[in-house]
Amino acid sequence: MEYLPEKHGESTEWESFVQAARKPVLLSFNAGDRGRAIEVPTDDQTVAGALNTLRVPFSENTPSPEDFQITRWGSDPFVFGSCSFNPAGSHPQKPRELAHPLRDRLYFAGEATEQNDIGTAHGVYLSGIRAADEILG
Ligand SMILES: Cc1cc2nc3c(=O)[nH]c(=O)nc-3n(C[C@H](O)[C@H](O)[C@H](O)COP(=O)(O)OP(=O)(O)OC[C@H]3O[C@@H](n4cnc5c(N)ncnc54)[C@H](O)[C@@H]3O)c2cc1C
Repeated sequence: MEYLPEKHGESTEWESFVQAARKPVLLSFNAGDRGRAIEVPTDDQTVAGALNTLRVPFSENTPSPEDFQITRWGSDPFVFGSCSFNPAGSHPQKPRELAHPLRDRLYFAGEATEQNDIGTAHGVYLSGIRAADEILG
């Protein structure tokens, strides 16, 4: 479900896990600047903000969740963000440059190195095949 809320980027995208996991779970995305901003408020404030957004296209009576989990990837020292992206003005060949091996000793795979499918699971898979081919070659 996609929704453009008044607060730009706040819980814009929702995914239901009912079909995939057979559980009444909703996942909400906050991307870009909003993704960074949302790392500051308390968990309760974040849940309240998400519910406020969800209740606009749905019902005011949409119940609060029984439980929740909130990621803060931007401040997680093992992550420092989520996917890479090409900002406006960046060179379209950037992923290819990032994939360039160092002295035929160090090879790179990962979503940021994939030219055509940047930021996707299948892109990661393809980048692994590409890096393995480079090593074998
Ligand atoms: C919320 C969200 C939803 C997504 N939805 C989809 C989707 O529906 N479909 C899709 O195709 N893609 C989706 N993606 C994108 C996909 O998940 C990523 O592109 C993919 O997981 C990236 O894989 P990767 O191996 O390049 O990097 P990662 O999976 O990020 O792996 C990098 C690993 O390196 C580790 N690491 C980092 N620094 C160090 C260090 N210094 N030393 C050792 N280890 C380190 C990290 O802990 C991590 O385990 C989504 C991503 C996010 C964040």
